[in-house]
Amino acid sequence: MNKSEAVILPGATIGIFGSGQLGRMTAIAAKQMGYRVHVFSPSHDSPAGQVADLEIQAPYDDVEAIERFAKQVSVITLEFENIPVDTLRAAAKHAPVHPSDHVLGTAQNRIREKSVLKEAGLPVANSHPIRSLEDLKTASQEFLPGVLKTANGGYDGKGQVIVKAADEVDSAWAQLDTDEAIFEEFVDFDCEISVVAARNTNGMIACYDPVRNVHRNHILDVSLSPAGMTSKLVADAKEMASTVMEELKVIGVICIEFFVTRDGQLVINEIAPRPHNSGHLTIDSHLTSQFEQQVRAVCGLELGSTEQIKPAAMVNLLGDCWADGEPKWDSALGIPNIKLHLYGKDVPAIGRKMGHITALADSPEQAAEDAKAARSLLEAKLSQPISSSNS
Ligand code: AMP
Repeated sequence: MNKSEAVILPGATIGIFGSGQLGRMTAIAAKQMGYRVHVFSPSHDSPAGQVADLEIQAPYDDVEAIERFAKQVSVITLEFENIPVDTLRAAAKHAPVHPSDHVLGTAQNRIREKSVLKEAGLPVANSHPIRSLEDLKTASQEFLPGVLKTANGGYDGKGQVIVKAADEVDSAWAQLDTDEAIFEEFVDFDCEISVVAARNTNGMIACYDPVRNVHRNHILDVSLSPAGMTSKLVADAKEMASTVMEELKVIGVICIEFFVTRDGQLVINEIAPRPHNSGHLTIDSHLTSQFEQQVRAVCGLELGSTEQIKPAAMVNLLGDCWADGEPKWDSALGIPNIKLHLYGKDVPAIGRKMGHITALADSPEQAAEDAKAARSLLEAKLSQPISSSNS
C-alpha cells in the first residue's frame, strides 16, 4: 500500500482507532474540514462515535473487522494510547496508519521510551528497568527518593508508587504487582510544562509554545498558556519536541511532557503520540487547534499556524462535578469569557474526564481564575450523588 505519500483531501474518509474525547474532538475538526470519519473501538454510543459518520464496535483483536475498517478509509490515526500494536499492523496492510506501530510501541513502554530519548541525547531522569525485587533494591541504593512505575499501561498517576526510603522498597514492589517496571529518580521540579507539536507526512514540523500544567491527584487539573517561561526555555522545549519527532519519524500530533527543575533545567517526563489534554485550550485560543493540526498532519496537508490569539486556561471537568447532581450549566455560562466542552459521556464517575472549560482573558492567570470560578459555579449543590471510578 502506498497511499501514504498522497495528500488526502477533504471529502476523503479518516479512520480513528479509539472513540473517547480525543477522537471526538479530532472528528469534529475533520468534519469541519469536510472529511468523513469512521471510528473503531469496542464501545457503543461513544464520545467520538456520536459525531462520526460511522461507529464500528469491535474488539481490538478482531482482525477481520480491523481489515474491513481499514479498507473503507484513506488514512488511519488513533486517539487512545493503549491500542495494541498488532491492531495497527493489521490495519496498515490496507491504509497508512499515523502514528506508526513503532512510534506507538515506543510510547507504550516506559523503558523503551526512556532509552530512545536518552539515545537521542535528550534530558530524562536517571532510571533503571526493574523486573524483580532484587532489581529495585539495587536501583534504590543508587538513588532515593524515586518513582516506581509500571512499564506499560499507566496513566494519570495509575500504576506508580513513590519510594522515599529503603524500608519502603518491599511494599512498593508488592503494591505495583507487575513483572516489568521502571524506577526513576524523583525530580524536584518547580513546575510541569508540555509542548504539543505536529509533523506531517512531508516532514514539516510545527510546535505550539509550552503550556503550564497543574495536576490534582495525578490528573491534569489546570493548563495555562502562555506558560510564563523564559524565551530560552520556550525555544529549548520546542527544539526538543522537534528532535523527538524527527528521531521517531512521528507523523501526527505528539505531546512532550517536561519537568522544569528548580534550577531551570528541562527534563522530559514522557511522550504521548496523539493530541493531549494539555492542548485542549488550542481549540479556543490558537489559530489552529491541536485537533485540526492532527487532521492536517496525517492527511499530508500543510500545517496550520500555532500562533496564540489570546491568553487562556483550561480546567478539566471530572465526574466529581456531578457529585451533587446535574451541574448548573447556566450559572457557569454566566461567565461570558468561558467556553464549555462536554464529551457526551452519560456516566459521571469520580475521576472520569467528562469535559473541560477554557477561559480566555488578558492573562493566563486571570483566565485560570475565571475557568475555576465557572467550575465552582457548576458544582453548586443539587440532588442525587454518583457512583464509582474510571476515565
Ligand atoms: P506520569 O504518569 O509519568 O505522567 O506521572 C504523573 C505525574 O506524577 C507527573 O505529572 C508528575 O507530577 C509526577 N511524577 C512522575 N514521575 C515523576 C518523577 N520522576 N519525579 C517527580 N514527579 C514525578
